Amino acid sequence: MLSYRDFINAFRDLDLGSHSQVIVHASFTALGEVAGGAETVVGSLLSTCGTVIMPTFTYRTMITPPVGPPDNAIEYGSADEENLMAEFYHHDMPADPAMGIVAETLRQYPEAIRSVHPILSFTGVNAQEALQMQTFEEPLAPIGWLAEYDGDVLLLGVDHTVNTSLNYAERQAGRKQFLRWALTPRGVVACPVYPGCADGFQLIVPRLDGVTRRVMLGQSMVEAIPLRDLIHIAVSWMHEDPRALLCDRPGCERCAAIRASVRVP
Ligand SMILES: [Zn+2]
Repeated sequence: MLSYRDFINAFRDLDLGSHSQVIVHASFTALGEVAGGAETVVGSLLSTCGTVIMPTFTYRTMITPPVGPPDNAIEYGSADEENLMAEFYHHDMPADPAMGIVAETLRQYPEAIRSVHPILSFTGVNAQEALQMQTFEEPLAPIGWLAEYDGDVLLLGVDHTVNTSLNYAERQAGRKQFLRWALTPRGVVACPVYPGCADGFQLIVPRLDGVTRRVMLGQSMVEAIPLRDLIHIAVSWMHEDPRALLCDRPGCERCAAIRASVRVP
């Protein structure tokens, strides 16, 4: 069983400390048994790092309208039943279960603050400046703030298919983004610059060999990658090959739309 001390040691071995500003993605179940539960993970992160941010996205606010702009990787009018299940966004809405129990535990931490996007909110501690960077036009801007301040992405028992910072890199590379809609108490709100699909993001791994720090924590791998390097490597690759990082899943509408949007020599 993993203890608080195991987490502290692993983070120290990754060269994380009070100077560190991290965006964390975590699978609590992949870590195995943890004494004290998800609170142990959050507590050890907060006592190690200066700033901790996690995505607390709420996809269940999303609405598919009957009509909308073309080439948007969405089948308009196809989701009447899902629309009925959509929930109004509110600031205390729990993160989607897909975000993981660690993110939801951070959200409930007394000193945590949350940004205001109805689908793509981030929660953080000591992260006011980063979270304030988020706008509807730049929903992933808190990641840009972390990169500017030499932050890291920390992957706890997860791989790059949940690494939102690569979605940020896609935006920086000028890749096509999407329009989505969220149900809010103010009505249905259009959310531009909605990111692409992350299913192909593991393809980045060999390119990060020189910059990834790794340690084992129980049965899982924990990785820290400097955001500035990650973004630079991913953006350069997408400039070289506009199809880089796209997935091969048949029927993936967003990857197909991006392929259709680029000219490849
Ligand atoms: Zn895809």
